[in-house]
Amino acid sequence: MASSPVLEIDGLTTSVDGLKILDGVSFSVGDGEVVGVVGESGSGKSMTALSSMRLLPNSVAVTSGRILFEGTDLLGLSEAAMRRIRGDRIAMIFQEPMSSLNPVLTVGEQIVETLTWHRGMARAEARRRAVELLDLVEIPAAAKRISDYPHQLSGGMRQRVMIAIALACEPKLLIADEPTTALDVTVQAQVLDLLRGLRRELAMSVMLITHDLGVVAEFADRVVVLYAGRVAETAPVKALFRAPAHPYTQGLLASIPPLDGPLAQPRPIPGSVPALADMPGGCRFHPRCAVAIDRCAVVQPPFFPLDPGHETACWLAGAGGVP
Ligand code: SF4
Repeated sequence: MASSPVLEIDGLTTSVDGLKILDGVSFSVGDGEVVGVVGESGSGKSMTALSSMRLLPNSVAVTSGRILFEGTDLLGLSEAAMRRIRGDRIAMIFQEPMSSLNPVLTVGEQIVETLTWHRGMARAEARRRAVELLDLVEIPAAAKRISDYPHQLSGGMRQRVMIAIALACEPKLLIADEPTTALDVTVQAQVLDLLRGLRRELAMSVMLITHDLGVVAEFADRVVVLYAGRVAETAPVKALFRAPAHPYTQGLLASIPPLDGPLAQPRPIPGSVPALADMPGGCRFHPRCAVAIDRCAVVQPPFFPLDPGHETACWLAGAGGVP
């Protein structure tokens, strides 16, 4: 599936007050590929998305690394150039559409605004396109719903509107940050189905940020597991579920609630992601790792390649297992 990367994140370090929220994160998203970025809360998933879009809060800054989008380093662009890319070549959808939609504009107006601003479309043409887009995201009676305000729509419908706005300019890359987390289970499945279909139809690349490994299993081609601001493991989705190599990934998989059987209880990973001001040395996972060895607390593990496209930062994966 993957060919030349649409997005290449290379050694991304993002800091607040000198503390590294992301520490040398590297991964890529190929043409037409869906890459799931997973990890617990505090792992740096959303910071990776916000760094890529250059939408970080004022106190937070990228301190080193590159974010190459179609070969151009986004970190070197002016804010005006970045505004032209955002919502056009790269679009983003968030967990709670209500916070991204403008409550005082109809949903039609919000799509029309995007099309007139980015594409220079005349309003009548943009309005026609807005109806098509609402149709595309399967909003019933789109020509009528276009005049609705966000509060008149259900959560699932609002998320569909956000997707319509995100797709308005046919982006090359969609960054979806927990796109189904705020929705109930049935609506989650519908929105996920919709995204899956659209991704195929529009040949988009997707960076899917989620804590939900079920969503990743259904939708992603490849997975990047983040822990405490560093990449713990990268693998094709099937390999990750079949043979997770990093103890943290194994822990995440073991903590998924089982579908059946009283014997198969979920086993949460003991402890929690360390606070930013209290990052452990060596492998950041070592205080929670049941199989840590002496070296883990002292030296940060490098990446060890396993199979093609599968690598992990764990000493136990080094040549021949336990060093
Ligand atoms: Fe556990 Fe050590 Fe591997 Fe880190 S490097 S995951 S502490 S075994």
